[in-house]
Amino acid sequence: MAERLVVIGGDAAGMSAASQARKRRGPEDLEIVAFERGNFTSYSACGIPYYLGDVVEDFDDLIVRTPEKFRDKQQIDARIHHEVVAIDLGARNVTVRDLANDSEAIEGFDQLVVATGGKPVRPPLEGVDARGIFGVQTLDDAVAIENFLENEKPKHAVVIGGGYIGLEMAEAFQLRGLDVALVERSAQPMVTLDPDIGELVAEAMRGLGVDLYSSEAVTGFEAKDGSVATVVTDNRTLHADIVVLGLGTRPNVELARMAGITIGESGGVKVDQRMQTEIEGVWSAGDCAEKINRVSGKPVAIALGTHANKEGRIAGINIGGGYATFPGVLGTATSKVCGYEVARTGLNEAEAKDAGFEFTTATSESTTRAGYFPGASPITTKLVVEQRSGRLLGAQIFGKEGAAKRIDGLAVALWNEMTVDAMVNVDLSYAPPFAPVWDPVLIAARKAWDKVQLELANLK
Ligand SMILES: Cc1cc2nc3c(=O)[nH]c(=O)nc-3n(C[C@H](O)[C@H](O)[C@H](O)COP(=O)(O)OP(=O)(O)OC[C@H]3O[C@@H](n4cnc5c(N)ncnc54)[C@H](O)[C@@H]3O)c2cc1C
Repeated sequence: MAERLVVIGGDAAGMSAASQARKRRGPEDLEIVAFERGNFTSYSACGIPYYLGDVVEDFDDLIVRTPEKFRDKQQIDARIHHEVVAIDLGARNVTVRDLANDSEAIEGFDQLVVATGGKPVRPPLEGVDARGIFGVQTLDDAVAIENFLENEKPKHAVVIGGGYIGLEMAEAFQLRGLDVALVERSAQPMVTLDPDIGELVAEAMRGLGVDLYSSEAVTGFEAKDGSVATVVTDNRTLHADIVVLGLGTRPNVELARMAGITIGESGGVKVDQRMQTEIEGVWSAGDCAEKINRVSGKPVAIALGTHANKEGRIAGINIGGGYATFPGVLGTATSKVCGYEVARTGLNEAEAKDAGFEFTTATSESTTRAGYFPGASPITTKLVVEQRSGRLLGAQIFGKEGAAKRIDGLAVALWNEMTVDAMVNVDLSYAPPFAPVWDPVLIAARKAWDKVQLELANLK
């Protein structure tokens, strides 16, 4: 008789796991059922700001694979509008609510993948439930925001939270012709960057006409006839016809916690190297699962699609009878913000300090192409480097087109624990349309190497 795999969550991690398991085991050997409470499976949440900003025109392009395709091409029974409301580990079954028919059923499993993703932070502030205040997490949120923009024609948008999703949404609203204000509790937007790089992002936002209110906390919302009218901060009151909450996410682990699955210190589901929880045959992957930061060695909860797809793949290979391990993350991320590109990998200064490293930093200014070549534009590259050894610990990049993807070379160096000494001579490519003869990454490595050498000399 076929084993039964149940997947909770029908997006990146869950459906990657299902697809990989199916690749290795046919339907006669493994029955696969995936439950998704929303309207869509395998979608690109990452594309939402670009759809709402009219950069991506067709909504359907954000849907990578529909339930029908999963059924027809892979014999995966993907059921939308089905929410798993309980897991019984002893009986090895889940309770599933059919949201369309308002009914419940018990579904057994031999293997289970918990891929419930992240849960957007929704502050418990007065008025937060007013009409016109949106989270941005799923395609259903995108549909709701698009309908609101079309029907209500808001003029003033306030984005709360200056993480990359908040910034991408601020830019999307600008592209739609709205006046945009962004409120951020910290001194700079993008707290995953060091303050000096964050300040470059702040300047870019102001340059594009976004009203940035940093070091301000939102204290509540005022509504008129049930719809949001103002956002109140500890410093001012902002007119708002539409509000987006971009306060980040936490691992969505309540279901797992209630079932007795161990939650790690980062707040994500604790998994081993193969993405298995402490319960045999129960796996977890994606934003809900804990990861290990390869540089600090610490457990972390980082919500990125890149990790979710890879972790889902690893879980699926193991469920499919193969053997694969997940080696941890660097938190490599890039974003397009107000006409600029910004990227990071590894540890920033605060994280390096928190991990106990003694480090130095080097920031270099260069150009994305040969200085004389049309389109050459400034690029700032910052490296965080261990003292004495010169080992790379992290990197951040800010610049115009052609800047951000340079972070990938730095991520590979970081992954392989390279020192800046070794990086300086790496054989990177050069031609005037693509880079100066010394690529900005190499210039930054040289500068960091100089600093490490100087500090070593001072120690003698
Ligand atoms: C606006 C935006 C932009 C982003 N941009 C980027 C980017 O540029 N690069 C990047 O790497 N990452 C980006 N991300 C993050 C990326 O989308 C997530 O990391 C990724 O989607 C995580 O995949 P997941 O499968 O773990 O979780 P999710 O995509 O959150 O999927 C989990 C699914 O589980 C379902 N679910 C939850 N609980 C239940 C339940 N009890 N029963 C049934 N179904 C349930 C949810 O409805 C959801 O569909 C972005 C995210 C957003 C919101």
